Amino acid sequence: MRYVSTRGQAASRDFQGVLLAGLAEDGGLFMPETWPTLSADDWRALRGLSYPELSAKVISLFTGDAISEAELLEMTRKAYAGFGHAAIVPLVQLDTRNFALELFHGPTLAFKDMALQLLGHLFDHVLTKTGERVTIVGATSGDTGSAAIEACRDRKAIDIVILHPEGRTSEVQRRQMTTVLSPNVKNIAIQGTFDDCQDMVKAMFNDAGFRADMKLSAVNSINWARIAAQIPYYVAAALALGAPDRPVAVAVPTGNFGNVLAAWAARRMGLPIEKLIIGANRNDILARFLASNDMSNQGVEPSLSPSMDIQVSSNFERLLFELLDRDAALTAETMSRFRTEGRMPVPDAAWKKATALFSGFSLDDEGTLAEIRRLHETSAYLADPHTAVGVAAAIARAPADKGLPVIVAATAHPAKFPDAVEQATGIRPPLPSRLADLYEREERYSVLPNDLSAVQSAVRGHTLRNAA
Ligand SMILES: *Cc1c(COP(=O)(O)O)cnc(C)c1O
Repeated sequence: MRYVSTRGQAASRDFQGVLLAGLAEDGGLFMPETWPTLSADDWRALRGLSYPELSAKVISLFTGDAISEAELLEMTRKAYAGFGHAAIVPLVQLDTRNFALELFHGPTLAFKDMALQLLGHLFDHVLTKTGERVTIVGATSGDTGSAAIEACRDRKAIDIVILHPEGRTSEVQRRQMTTVLSPNVKNIAIQGTFDDCQDMVKAMFNDAGFRADMKLSAVNSINWARIAAQIPYYVAAALALGAPDRPVAVAVPTGNFGNVLAAWAARRMGLPIEKLIIGANRNDILARFLASNDMSNQGVEPSLSPSMDIQVSSNFERLLFELLDRDAALTAETMSRFRTEGRMPVPDAAWKKATALFSGFSLDDEGTLAEIRRLHETSAYLADPHTAVGVAAAIARAPADKGLPVIVAATAHPAKFPDAVEQATGIRPPLPSRLADLYEREERYSVLPNDLSAVQSAVRGHTLRNAA
């Protein structure tokens, strides 16, 4: 299986190559050269498998010769062993047609664990084969950092350094990072803002000498392996609801377009997903695009669902490439005009294709609290604010055909956003027992000024110590 760039100017690579590269050299994102497709009988044969078995089978369609299904199975077993639910991705019925697909039973209580837990093992696997080590650096305003740290802790071939803005994350978020005491993990609190942290990471990647010396790498959401690892849970849920003999719809609360792109990919592989519904908060660029072909950048406003506070959905480029019939030159030109003009000129024919399949919906903070309250009152279900946006979108936009069940991606545990849940319902959801002592655990992190050379020498010291 080979992968090509959406912008057409980078050499094609195999799975191992795209895993390590992340972004293509031409600024594009990697996509499979051809899509694997399954027949109805192939899908039926996947019924009844455990989640690690199912995910190894589905992901092996994308790894080709680079990694075997048996090797993948070993990794998926380990990746999902620490989850807090025997089903890994339980499906909970909310009403007559909507089902919450709970993707938050991993170590950091958000759906990013589904892909990142496996990515840690994939990195370790390919690096151990080639005898290399990498240093993963990243900046976080809260959630992504902890998921990356949990994924990379104790992996032999990886060092990880995460920068967070001192005093500007919630205590739960900071503790989920700083109480991981593994020797290959380093947390740095920067005396500055999240933007300062992100600028520092960019500066480290732009310093070619430093980048090569430290073998810098990233696990950000444009990595194809993350998308591949998110396809199996849509397969599991659709099979449980009767696919391939009964079609389904999917609703996803969306930020970077990664999770919903995985659902699109499952459909592209032949899973009968008839409708894809996108939920947004007040940052509604995707909903505006679907309503009126207005993909314009209007700045980010904070909301109760911070993981969806995004102006530019980076994975949308992958869908655009497909909507443009894989015309890489046109994709590159469209993305470049978006960057310079702040508005993406999507041709009418491509937009019509998008609207035939996708529906968008956006919900403000007041509506989000009302939806959390309604779900609690009518279904005794405690939803986090991101999940509540997804459920509201499902209800507002599901097709008239009532026979079509809707799978709603439940992306965070309610205890991860206790303030909003308490405000809506009066109930403060407790942390699951495996995290109940988070507030008593020992923390370890360095505090550094907003100064590139100080941070670079800390990264160098961390990496050298572990390589020794
Ligand atoms: C990251 C995240 C999202 C958005 O997912 P994308 O793949 O970026 O669209 C939604 N909800 C939660 C809780 C998240 O952490």
